[in-house]
Amino acid sequence: MLHADPLPQRRAIAKAITLLESTRADHRAQADELLTALLPHTGRSFRLGISGVPGVGKSTFIEALGLHLIALGHRVAVLTIDPSSTVSGGSILGDKTRMEKLSVHERAYIRPSPSSGTLGGVAEKTREAMLVCEAAGYDVVIVETVGVGQSETAVASMTDMFVLMQLPNAGDDLQAIKKGVMEIADLVVINKADLDADAAMRAGSQITSALRLFGLVNNAMGHAQAEDFDRQWQPRVLQLSALHNRGVDAFWTTVTQFQALQAANGRHAARREQQALAWMWERIEAGLKNAFRADPAVQACLPELSRAVVAGQAVPSAAARQLLGLLFKGAA
Ligand code: GDP
Repeated sequence: MLHADPLPQRRAIAKAITLLESTRADHRAQADELLTALLPHTGRSFRLGISGVPGVGKSTFIEALGLHLIALGHRVAVLTIDPSSTVSGGSILGDKTRMEKLSVHERAYIRPSPSSGTLGGVAEKTREAMLVCEAAGYDVVIVETVGVGQSETAVASMTDMFVLMQLPNAGDDLQAIKKGVMEIADLVVINKADLDADAAMRAGSQITSALRLFGLVNNAMGHAQAEDFDRQWQPRVLQLSALHNRGVDAFWTTVTQFQALQAANGRHAARREQQALAWMWERIEAGLKNAFRADPAVQACLPELSRAVVAGQAVPSAAARQLLGLLFKGAA
C-alpha cells in the first residue's frame, strides 16, 4: 500500500477513502476487508481534534501548525467533519481554498469532509479515513470541525486530545460554555490575540475559571480519583495568533506535555479503548435503526401507529414497544 513517492501514495489513500465512502454494498464489503488488513498498522498517530466557529482561524492555524510539525519531521494528515454539508449539501469548510502551502506539501495529506449522510455516518467515514492515514504513515492526524451542532462531540470522541479555538470576545466564550463544549475541551486557544490583547487576556481568565469550575464539579461527582488528581491534566488556555505564527510552537509543546502525561497515567490507552467500544455500539445502534425502518412488518404498522400517537390515542412508549416487538419477531 505504501509507495516511497508521495504522489502515487496520496492517490492510493484517496482511492481507499473513496472506497470507504461508497454506499454500494460490494464496496462496503471490500472496505471492511481493507480496514481489517490495515488495522495492525493503525493507532500509532497522535489524533488531534480542533473545533471553532467559522472565521475563528482554523485553517490559518492548521496550516501554520502543519508546517511547524513537518519541520519537526512529522507527517500530517488533516481530515474534516463539516456538518453543514450533511444538512444542506453546502459547505462551511470546503468552499474556499484552504491551507495552500500545506495542501501541496509532500508530507501532508488533506481530505475534505464526506459530503453526504447523517453526522453519525460522516463521523464513521472520518474515523475510517483516519485509520487509512495512520497505516500510510501519517503520525499526526488532525480532525477539524466547525462549532455547529453535535460535530464537536463526534470529533472529541475520535481523538486523543480535543482543542477548542475561541475569539478574544466574551460573548463567544459564554456560547461555548452554554453549549457544553468547553467541558469536553482538553485545551482552549484564543486566536487573533493580536487584534485585542486586553480582550484576549480577559477571555483567557474567564475561560480559565470556567475550566477550573468544571474540574471541581467533575471531581466532586467522583469522575476523578482524589489520589491521582495531581497527575491529571488540568485543561488550560493559550493565547495564539495563527496569522502571525505566534504561539504555534508553545501550542505544540503543550500538546506534547499532554501526550506524555496521558501515556504515563494510562489515560491515552483507556480513552482509545473506550472510543473503540463506543464506535462499535454507535454503529450497532445505527444498524438496528436501519433494520427497523426497512422491516416490512414495521413499515406496514408504522403509519397507523404514528397517527395514533399524534392523535393522543396511543401511548408513545407502548407504540414503540409494539413496533420493536414486530422487528424482533420478524428476526426470530
Ligand atoms: P476558519 O473559518 O476557522 O478556517 O478561519 P480562517 O483560517 O479562514 O480565518 C478567517 C480569517 O481570519 C482570515 O481572513 C484569516 O486571515 C484571519 N485570521 C486567522 N488567524 C488570525 C490571527 O491570528 N489574527 C488575525 N488578525 N487574523 C487572523
